[in-house]
Amino acid sequence: MSRKPENIPAVIPHYIDGERVESVSGETFGVLDPVTNETYTQAASGDKADIDLAVAAATRAFEEGPWPRMKARERARILNRIADITETRGHELAAMETYDTGLPITQARGQAMRAAENFRFFADLIVAQSDDTYKVPGQQMNYVNRKPKGVAGLITPWNTPFMLESWKLGPSLASGCTVVLKPAEFTPLSASLWAGIFEEAELPKGVFNLVNGLGETAGDALVKHEGTDLISFTGESSTGKLIFRNCAEHLKAMSMELGGKSPAVMFADADLDEALDSTLFGVFSLNGERCTAGSRILVERAIYDEFCERYAERARKIRVGDPSDTSTEVGALVHPEHFEKVMSYVEIGKGEGRLLAGGGRPEGLPEGNYVAPTVFADVKPDARIFQEEIFGPVVAITPFDSEDEALALANDTRYGLAAYVWTNDLRRGHRMAQGIEAGMVWLNSHNVRDLRSPFGGVKASGLGHEGGYRSLDFYSDQQAVHITLGDVHTPRFGAH
Ligand code: NAD
Repeated sequence: MSRKPENIPAVIPHYIDGERVESVSGETFGVLDPVTNETYTQAASGDKADIDLAVAAATRAFEEGPWPRMKARERARILNRIADITETRGHELAAMETYDTGLPITQARGQAMRAAENFRFFADLIVAQSDDTYKVPGQQMNYVNRKPKGVAGLITPWNTPFMLESWKLGPSLASGCTVVLKPAEFTPLSASLWAGIFEEAELPKGVFNLVNGLGETAGDALVKHEGTDLISFTGESSTGKLIFRNCAEHLKAMSMELGGKSPAVMFADADLDEALDSTLFGVFSLNGERCTAGSRILVERAIYDEFCERYAERARKIRVGDPSDTSTEVGALVHPEHFEKVMSYVEIGKGEGRLLAGGGRPEGLPEGNYVAPTVFADVKPDARIFQEEIFGPVVAITPFDSEDEALALANDTRYGLAAYVWTNDLRRGHRMAQGIEAGMVWLNSHNVRDLRSPFGGVKASGLGHEGGYRSLDFYSDQQAVHITLGDVHTPRFGAH
């Protein structure tokens, strides 16, 4: 059976004002299959001219269209339809995602369901939402008038692209914003499904617009466009810095979900079997291309040798292969450029740590962007593989002797996205959680998150927290309206 899904367009178009369109310039770029690195299709390559059209359409839909003015229940009905359609098309969607990104198919299916859930969740939230009202007895009533912020510019990365796009589309649309999405250029395929899903769900024309293209052209134009009221960005910390500078010009609202180098801290009293399952999944799922990957494992000296040995043994047995095979655990990395980057870290690691597993291409896979799950032990905190985000199936293990040392090591990077702590000592678990500089901490678990809780990083991992009501707050303005009920003390200037 062919791995290639049916219905792949010859050119993946933009979607502007309800129409599938080519670039104004007619330019396209090639899209690669990560298993063969052959160009399997083209995508329209947008630049400023296309962004201008998309922002104009989104602005019209915001100023004149029904979407921002609809009752929450009416918007929620459409969001729920989007969730239903996404769910029904889950298999088709996951097949496209897997083909385009190299993510294992079973994991892509899970991501498709999570994407649907993002819409359902925000549909519920806007219907249940209430805002603050304050009564100042006999004098004033103050209330919050929540308004959608305007045209949202959404810029997303290539890891789990469809799910991460839903993460921004769900709350921005729920809030009543209109949007222009610029998906990652490595992986435009699954994003091309949004247009059909939204049309079928009867999202009004012009509310959703999509422009494909490179970051430096289409992405840059979206950030710098004076018609976008906010930018929600997920990607690398270095790109985030650049976008931050470009947003400053127009004082745009920004949300930044950036890179990570998250620690998993293993105390000797932890349940080792559970911890092994969890920390293996935590770094090797999604091919290691995961912002919250627990890619630095810190292990208490008493269990260090046993942990390293058992961890490496399991890592060597991870099934690497064809992403469309349901038994595959690690697929192919997204793109040859990224493959080269990860492989260069594997080589750097050989001089910085003790190689216990992997260390290059897996046997029997001479082509495509395959990297064997790679484990380095005895990695010092000043090593590059301890400090820098690799974003692939590579993990660094480091021993520690005390809780204080564990905490210092955990915090010894510029990032602060996630952290995982393994211990059966309740008090120590909380002490560690509270001392760790990370936006999110899991005790005795990998990354499992209820959509109501905050998501985001500190330090170089991000700016602002989303999740639940925080996302709605980001995409809306809370205007305070003050009504005078009685007499107000007013100094009488000029009356004397
Ligand atoms: P990237 O920063 O290279 O690109 C992300 C997006 O930004 C792409 O759409 C790209 O085209 C666009 N872009 C690039 N330059 C731009 C510019 N000058 N102006 C506007 N847009 C521009 O990131 P990536 O390689 O696609 O994704 C991997 C990174 O994303 C990793 O660092 C990972 O940790 C991070 N990430 C973070 C989270 C999180 O929630 N914190 C989630 C997923 C991924």
